[in-house]
Amino acid sequence: MTIEETYRRLHPRSTALYERAVGMFPSGVTHDARFMAPFPLYIERSAGAHKWDVDGHELIDYWMGHGALLLGHGHPAVVAAVQEQMVRGVHFGAEHELEVCWAALVQQLFPSIERLRFTASGTEATMLAVRLARAYTGRPAIVRFAGHFHGWHDMLARGAEGEDVPPPGVPAALLETTIVLPADLAQVEATLHERQDIAAVILEPTGASYGMVPLPDEFVRQVRRLTMARDVLLICDEVVTGFRVAPGGVQARAGVAADLTALAKILAGGLPGGAVGGRADIVRLLEFGDATWNRERKIRHNGTFNANALSAAAGIATLELVATGEPGQHAAHLCGRLIDGLNAVIRERGLRGWAAYGDASIFHIVAGSRVGFAPGALAADVPALELKRGGDPRLIAALRLALINQGVDLMRGRSGFLSVAHSAADIAQTIAAFAAAIDAMAAEGLLGAAHR
Ligand code: PMP
Repeated sequence: MTIEETYRRLHPRSTALYERAVGMFPSGVTHDARFMAPFPLYIERSAGAHKWDVDGHELIDYWMGHGALLLGHGHPAVVAAVQEQMVRGVHFGAEHELEVCWAALVQQLFPSIERLRFTASGTEATMLAVRLARAYTGRPAIVRFAGHFHGWHDMLARGAEGEDVPPPGVPAALLETTIVLPADLAQVEATLHERQDIAAVILEPTGASYGMVPLPDEFVRQVRRLTMARDVLLICDEVVTGFRVAPGGVQARAGVAADLTALAKILAGGLPGGAVGGRADIVRLLEFGDATWNRERKIRHNGTFNANALSAAAGIATLELVATGEPGQHAAHLCGRLIDGLNAVIRERGLRGWAAYGDASIFHIVAGSRVGFAPGALAADVPALELKRGGDPRLIAALRLALINQGVDLMRGRSGFLSVAHSAADIAQTIAAFAAAIDAMAAEGLLGAAHR
């Protein structure tokens, strides 16, 4: 039986749900990253580092709420906080104490955040950050880096370097306000020198797609230096890295203070939520002010679910634990062991063009790259484009199914987030599942001579 046949046979109830879903949602899914052939899994419940699909299979989960669940699924402190708040009320149409406590934790962990506003998502956070930067500087252009993701809104929709065709539905005029650069300091320096219309540089501080194309902390330090020298704002998109790579995000680890920071995911403890914060003189543009403050300069910002009480409760419970540094350290330690284990399997089987790599508690796999680097090479030795592509998409798709058949769910079949709930036993089981998945792929003739 092939990998796909096995997958189909194991998941009759997911098959049936998907058949209904295609009549409702485009391609049957509610988030592009969850789309997969022949159909996605439907999950019924989760606990700790595990989740169970509707056909009763237990999976080790490496999606972890798209990176939002550093404490794992259903952490008792988070569950208790949310349950308690649920009874008290979910939305008062008013300010409440929890948002003050939540913001205080953010300010404590991110000293660069002097003032902040909560939003409903990371997309909204980067959108507001860009608007603040433009309003503050009076300049329209934003420098961004090829492949870096900042949410799906129009303002930062263009992704690829040299991609001149606007994404469908985005006016071409909007593209003129973003400058896409490769992650190359000389080009950043030259661009900031040449153009006087740049409001800000925005980046994912560990590199494109949560470190899929890794950047060293030194890169962020240098971008900070260059932006400061040119009086251009630095927006750190710490939606993924915030509270994960260190309690204070990449900024704490690298010793950098951004002018504006976008946060989400772990911030809200697994519930919806985001925030944008930074220098008081910039965030002040959201203030109503007094007679001395020109009200016409105020940026409007509404949002029914900003700082909603449930997210605040989950966020506080989470950040109080994250602040100790222990959850992040545990997750990062196990992530290192997982990467080593995956690379050992890759080397044992002599898979050229395959490697596992990562940063803190985030890992990635590149599989079957035609570039053909040595088995288990360091990410630094692999061309950036290959890291972004992940090697051969056909192999990644097969790996994703084969791993699910073995009880492991990787994000898009090639990445993962560790949590405090993952254990050494989970890591050992995942490495064994990876070896079994590779063997299933080999048995199916998917790993031709070129990859061996
Ligand atoms: N920025 C980064 C770096 C992200 O990874 C994401 C989402 N994965 C976003 C922004 C958007 O966040 P959200 O999905 O909460 O809108």
